Amino acid sequence: MNPNLRTHAMTEPANESRAIEGKVDVTKADFSDSRAFQLSSLLQTTLELEQQLELFMHEGRLSFGISSLHYEHSAPDCRLNMGNEQPQSVHYDLSVHGDNLGRIRFTRGKPFTTRELDALENLLCILVYPLRNALRYRQALDQALRDPLTGVQNRSAFQTTMEREFDLARRQQVPLSLIVLDIDHFKHFNDNYGHSFGDDVLKAVTASAESTIRRSDMIFRYGGEEFVIVASHTDLEGAALLAERIRRNIEALGTVGGREICITASLGATELKAGDSAADLFDRADEALYSAKSQGRNQTVIN
Ligand code: GH3
Ligand code: MG
Ligand code: MG
Repeated sequence: MNPNLRTHAMTEPANESRAIEGKVDVTKADFSDSRAFQLSSLLQTTLELEQQLELFMHEGRLSFGISSLHYEHSAPDCRLNMGNEQPQSVHYDLSVHGDNLGRIRFTRGKPFTTRELDALENLLCILVYPLRNALRYRQALDQALRDPLTGVQNRSAFQTTMEREFDLARRQQVPLSLIVLDIDHFKHFNDNYGHSFGDDVLKAVTASAESTIRRSDMIFRYGGEEFVIVASHTDLEGAALLAERIRRNIEALGTVGGREICITASLGATELKAGDSAADLFDRADEALYSAKSQGRNQTVIN
């Protein structure tokens, strides 16, 4: 095993950019310093990325007067910002044994000296392995809550989100709406063109609905060919408009995998009312969906 940690640092003073590139041997992380040893022990106590970075930020503040820490990684998608950003910055692209561990950036008011950067890199060597474990943990959690076919969150994630959004809406006294969507005669696509074409239809419908909703709306695959959209801060009128936009865009899909087909969906929409439980909200949206089906499909019913 190659024990090297690859880091890349760039200081970005006001009018100058200086790059420091190098390899830091992770086995040379200096634990003789009791603070470094303490940090290492603390980092082992948590798998939560936020907590690890908070611990690192705390040490960075004490040792180097760091004002802010910024971390980003694309898979799992995360961005964390702590502290107040200052003009002098240094960043590191972290990777260990070929594993990309994201980019970490620190800022403070005065430039970093070479000596300080050496010490900072030494501390980063202590961070990388716990950080890798935290990222793997986060990826595993993310996968458990995601539907592998369509890439949207699954029913289990919906239950957790629903409880959170329900509590928020009650506490902040803001509207909350729910839309339930079911593809019409979906079985027909499987029966006529095969299961894998059915899968393509599911992906196309998901992509269409995802591109229609706002960033603050959330879509989940509830099961089979049924989806739920949680629209926070949205009243019934807004939910009805959103549901109709989703329905029309699905109807306009036209072709999937080069085959011309007509896909339609039925939707039920409702909003949170006084005295509702989270389950009541879902049941009412589901009843509306049932009415949309029985009234001829390819329509939205509000309830
Ligand atoms: P309706 O208009 O009443 O909703 O009719 P429908 O055909 O859409 O509904 P039905 O419940 O009769 O059939 C749903 C089908 O969806 C049956 C099931 O095999 C299929 N299905 C569920 N999950 C998947 C999947 O992941 N991929 C594919 N290809 N088919 C799936
Ligand atoms: Mg259906
Ligand atoms: Mg169904």
